[in-house]
Amino acid sequence: MKVAIIGGGLAGLSLAILLRKEGIAVQLFEAGNYPRHKVCGEYISNESKGLLQRLGFPFECYNIPEIRHFRLTHYQGHSAQTPLGKGGMGISRYALDYELYQIALANGVEVFTQTKVQEVTSQGTQKLLKTADNQLFEADLVAGAYGRVSHFQQNATQPNPGKAFIGVKYHIEADLPADLIEIHTFRGGYCGISQIETGQYCLCYLTQNQRVKDFKGDLNAFEQEILAENPYLNRYLSQPKVMEGVTTSQFYFGIKAQANPHILPLGDAAGFIPPITGNGMSLAFRAAFELHRLILAHRQPQQQTDLQQAHQRYVQGYLNHRITQGVFLQNLLFREQRLFQTLMMKTFQYVPFALSMMTRKAVGKDIV
Ligand SMILES: Cc1cc2nc3c(=O)[nH]c(=O)nc-3n(C[C@H](O)[C@H](O)[C@H](O)COP(=O)(O)OP(=O)(O)OC[C@H]3O[C@@H](n4cnc5c(N)ncnc54)[C@H](O)[C@@H]3O)c2cc1C
Repeated sequence: MKVAIIGGGLAGLSLAILLRKEGIAVQLFEAGNYPRHKVCGEYISNESKGLLQRLGFPFECYNIPEIRHFRLTHYQGHSAQTPLGKGGMGISRYALDYELYQIALANGVEVFTQTKVQEVTSQGTQKLLKTADNQLFEADLVAGAYGRVSHFQQNATQPNPGKAFIGVKYHIEADLPADLIEIHTFRGGYCGISQIETGQYCLCYLTQNQRVKDFKGDLNAFEQEILAENPYLNRYLSQPKVMEGVTTSQFYFGIKAQANPHILPLGDAAGFIPPITGNGMSLAFRAAFELHRLILAHRQPQQQTDLQQAHQRYVQGYLNHRITQGVFLQNLLFREQRLFQTLMMKTFQYVPFALSMMTRKAVGKDIV
């Protein structure tokens, strides 16, 4: 059996490694290259730790901060803090994706970098892939780990561009404790900051595209006027940046309708959860683990329909449920009514259990 995987982010790389470890031939196509910076808050929930160990991530080579506390601040000046139940780790995507790529190569995955898959068709039970430079490949199964915006999805971009989101990331020098993650709200968005393996900090925010467009796309002006309104966040904006900002835009949240019936979607390609949960990466790992189990259980060509149906049950059941909870949490922070926000922050301040409950809603069981 041969599996082709489109997209070499976390979902694609981990599926490739898991299948290869079971002796399945895997070809993985990645449009970009390694290593590179990607927009992400770089906080990984500990529900993924066991899976990363199983994949062979070299934890011993890095000084990875263990994150155990969460602080939420509001632009009106309130702040509340709670221990995190499961907690998490800070690892840059630069290091994480690169290490998984190296593990994939070492396990015998055939990786094609700078190779964009343009088209997938079928001939009987065989799948045919055509790349942007007109190379042709054949596979028994095709998994789509092409991320949150792709021509393989229906309505890949938000039909109303004003409602689409933009994410921005920097690495900065800062001085908050290594075991703390902070989320700072601002009008129309929120910004996370926590330490990564280099000892530097990942500062990453999300807002609606339209908010930045109101500043003619000038991120610096937007940050100085809107992000700076939150006094807790303001103090980080003048910190030295150790990496040029990277941005991603035109995305939205929810389960993604697929345009191509021959592809099994996973990770963000199947559905995108709001970053407030700090759980997108873990859902990408989980999807890879679940799909590898299903593929192992449905190896015969005549079992493809059963495989697709079982995979759809995971997407429409578990994934949909997690995303719905994430959207609910994000909407709480996006409500701009002053009274609502004051009441919510005071509740979190004086009843930390309520904040703790909120953080628990965002997390799943250990993947393995
Ligand atoms: C602002 C922001 C902050 C976030 N913060 C966090 C956080 O703190 N914690 C967390 O857990 N999650 C966070 N996330 C979510 C997390 O980044 C994603 O859920 C995760 O990257 C999903 O991995 P993936 O493999 O599905 O997709 P990706 O990592 O996006 O990988 C997709 C890959 O597919 C490739 N590709 C696309 N199309 C093709 C094609 N046609 N052919 C070949 N290759 C292709 C792309 O080049 C890319 O490398 C955040 C997301 C955003 C936007």
